[in-house]
Amino acid sequence: MPQTNLSSSRRNFVQRFSAGLGALSLSSALPRLAAATSKGKSGKLGIALVGLGNYSTKQLAPAFEHAKGCYLAGIVTGTKAKEAVWKEKYGIKPQNVYNYDNFESIASNKDIDIVYIVLPNSMHAEYTIRAARAGKHVICEKPMALSVAEGQSMIDACRENDVMLSIGYRLHFDPNTREIMKLAAEKPYGNVRYVQSEVAFTIGDPTQWRLKKDMAGGGAVMDVGIYCIQAARYATGEEPIAIRAQEFKTDWEKFKDVDETVSWQLEFPSGAYSSSTTSYNMRTNRLYVSYQKGAANLEPATKYTGIKGQIQKRILDVTPISQQARQMDGFAQSVRSGTPSIVPGEEGLKDMKVIEALYRSLANGGKRTLI
Ligand code: NDP
Repeated sequence: MPQTNLSSSRRNFVQRFSAGLGALSLSSALPRLAAATSKGKSGKLGIALVGLGNYSTKQLAPAFEHAKGCYLAGIVTGTKAKEAVWKEKYGIKPQNVYNYDNFESIASNKDIDIVYIVLPNSMHAEYTIRAARAGKHVICEKPMALSVAEGQSMIDACRENDVMLSIGYRLHFDPNTREIMKLAAEKPYGNVRYVQSEVAFTIGDPTQWRLKKDMAGGGAVMDVGIYCIQAARYATGEEPIAIRAQEFKTDWEKFKDVDETVSWQLEFPSGAYSSSTTSYNMRTNRLYVSYQKGAANLEPATKYTGIKGQIQKRILDVTPISQQARQMDGFAQSVRSGTPSIVPGEEGLKDMKVIEALYRSLANGGKRTLI
């Protein structure tokens, strides 16, 4: 496996760079927003995927087929065997293939405008900061980091180096999810009174990084509970002010390091209230929103295969789309136009604040905790 002694090397790196960032002034030597685009393959921006695991292999790489404004220009992998397979399958130039040691040299590669971090959570901060220092715009997968402090260091690094940062919140590019956001903004059914969001699945391989706290930062909450937090925030259009959280554990061996099942409730300034459950040991995937004069329901609410549901009696369109293609195209367009991403680093940081408050509440026996 690539990168041994990962967590300590990551910590050392983040410490080094957090310490150095304030003193750096590299902006003049690096490309400014919207000025550094390669406009390769018929004007499309080049993206390099970092970490060729499940999500890169099964969702992101195939999504490029549907993308109009970007293409798969490069890869960064620690697994030698994947290099030839990806080069052959996606026609990637040999000079656009990197590993974790020579990643910095991506700075001089004009084919690559955007670096997309699809690594285990504990590596997000390190690779986002390294990409920013290489002068590349960054998409980083969710959860953006292991903590608010790490997330802030990523935002700072991108700002210092005049590159844009976006978080992999694909649902913001899904039309049916956007309808839910619109109801919060336009209020045709009045204010939101209650949101119920649940995302859970049964996790397999007990040895995987998702079950190791130092690599995942937590369990189901960090991985898919974050979708519930997102849903409560975009369904209300508000930022939560307080949380109460409760944990349930049935398999103490498999989940010795991370949370298995967690439920929590959020309070919003308007008086709206949300209730959520996430788990690595059950299956659910839905969002219910109760307004003063109506209701909306999405089920499934986060699946790649399509978000289905209804608003009042209206059944939402189910025409298949590629959420990932729209998300990557959306960011390419942001880079091209110099317009901030609709899911910038700050959006990821808001979720990290809720997650930290959630774990504080759990540590305090479920007491109401301010966010
Ligand atoms: P995987 O475990 O399938 O892949 C992670 C890849 O990271 C590995 O294949 C490997 O790629 C690389 N890697 C480098 N160092 C390590 C290490 N020490 N241990 C394990 N892997 C390492 O994870 P996923 O693809 O499922 O998830 C990656 C990220 O994407 C996570 O942050 C996850 O939350 C996010 N994600 C987001 C989704 C979304 O819908 N937005 C959906 C799924 C995941 P290589 O061999 O090329 O070096």
